[in-house]
Amino acid sequence: MAEILPAIFFGHGNPMNALSDNAYTAGWRQIGKQTPKPKAILSISAHWFVPGTGVTISTSPKTIHDFGGFPRELYQVEYPAPGDPDLARRVQEMLKPLPIRFDSSWGLDHGTWSVLKHAYPDADVPVVQLSIDETQPASFHFEIGRRLAPLRGERILIVGSGNLVHNLHAYAWGRHMPDPYDWAILFEKEAREMMVAGEYQPLIYYENLGPEAQLSIPTPDHYLPLLYVLGSRQQGEVITFPVEGVDGGSISMLSVQVG
Ligand code: ZN
Repeated sequence: MAEILPAIFFGHGNPMNALSDNAYTAGWRQIGKQTPKPKAILSISAHWFVPGTGVTISTSPKTIHDFGGFPRELYQVEYPAPGDPDLARRVQEMLKPLPIRFDSSWGLDHGTWSVLKHAYPDADVPVVQLSIDETQPASFHFEIGRRLAPLRGERILIVGSGNLVHNLHAYAWGRHMPDPYDWAILFEKEAREMMVAGEYQPLIYYENLGPEAQLSIPTPDHYLPLLYVLGSRQQGEVITFPVEGVDGGSISMLSVQVG
């Protein structure tokens, strides 16, 4: 039987993690080492949140520095992984009749490279990004994950990059590290239990989960990549949390691995 690769959601957090050596980045490195080497990576990043669904078609996607106000060295990071137009075409084919546009203007944004720089430091695995259609409800994103699941049997690593809890308004930028907010802990715990139990409906309709969820997901961009990963989970597959922690009080760094 063909080997089925896991699908992994990474909590990427602060872009400076790209340059850091901390418990989170050590965890990402470990994931890269433990996962059978993928033929290519399909990445769904919180930072490509646009109208419509696009897929990068370039053979050499550029490194996008899509942030402001960070130290110069972060703008100098390059992640020169090749693209994989064949994978982009395969994704388009699999999602028919949904219109998927080939995109040659986007590349790899920091949601993708800040994590992959640690997991695959040699940048020798081709990477394709799939955009998140901001006009669609959460159920649409879960469904795309479900339809892309067969890629996992073709040695494609499906990666979601965002944060389960992502409230920048409450985040302690550059200040001492506060304890996590109660609502962040509560929501993360509740979400983990639902994931383990395979209870996806409440996670898809997270807006009904109450005030903790609302504070944890003030905007959907960093949450939705998780639904692609959960959507690709096959019956009976284990779910694990290889990286844990809350950064700055309000950013969950939880990684979620399916399979
Ligand atoms: Zn982000």
